[in-house]
Amino acid sequence: QPGLYFVATPIGTARDITLRALDILASADIIAAEDTRSMKRLLEIHGVPLGDRPVVSYHDHSGEKSRARLVAHIAEGRSVAYASEAGTPLIADPGYHLSRAVAEEGFLVTSAPGPSAIVTALSLAGLPTDAFFFAGFLPNAKKARRAAMEAVADVPGTLVFYESPKRIGAMLIDAMEVFGAERQAAVARELTKKFEEVRRGTLQTLAESVANAPPKGEIVVLIERNQVKDASPEEIEAALIGALKRLSV
Ligand code: SAM
Repeated sequence: QPGLYFVATPIGTARDITLRALDILASADIIAAEDTRSMKRLLEIHGVPLGDRPVVSYHDHSGEKSRARLVAHIAEGRSVAYASEAGTPLIADPGYHLSRAVAEEGFLVTSAPGPSAIVTALSLAGLPTDAFFFAGFLPNAKKARRAAMEAVADVPGTLVFYESPKRIGAMLIDAMEVFGAERQAAVARELTKKFEEVRRGTLQTLAESVANAPPKGEIVVLIERNQVKDASPEEIEAALIGALKRLSV
């Protein structure tokens, strides 16, 4: 069927690709990828023949023209599979503008879901998962990074950040100041890979641990929600009425 098929790819271990993702990659008329080399390698690992199908490069910033070309292929009845370099497309990765462009033309947009570092990290961190907020990558500059942290400090859910090994030390120090040194958190790195590791503790113990043994590789930082909640006027009123009622009996 013509349309755009988002395909999630592994975040470390090649065999984490789904059978359906392989089916789609085997049958799509055109394969578009953020990184054509890693896509070709993935197809090779799984023995998916490319035949004379092209693997075209696409990023959201590759511009209108290359997006319009993919939409035109779909309009002509072709299926386009799109994968980002790793994990789920659109999650801190390209695909958003393509998704909108194809949907706006009324064509099929669907996906073969699969790995994402957010969900993998959440399932291992030992922090509440009933509600969470993905804050993506923080800005590089200290001031902007702190402002971005402050903006999400009171989100009622676990906070999830993508981080780099270069910045993780500075990030945790800022986090201690913004969220409080005692806030529970986790640093998950190299998920699904040989050196997978999850460090759990307070922001302070994690900052110390990272300073003593800097983690290498790809990193997700998770921070527990703020437990200190200011009561709303309605809650205060309800509590006061409750107390008065108890007094009057
Ligand atoms: N689309 C991907 C996904 O669905 O997770 C994310 C792409 S984003 C450009 C790359 C970042 O995701 C890395 O810098 C790291 O923060 C995180 N990440 C990706 N793979 C990871 C892994 N195996 N372990 C830990 N973090 C990972």
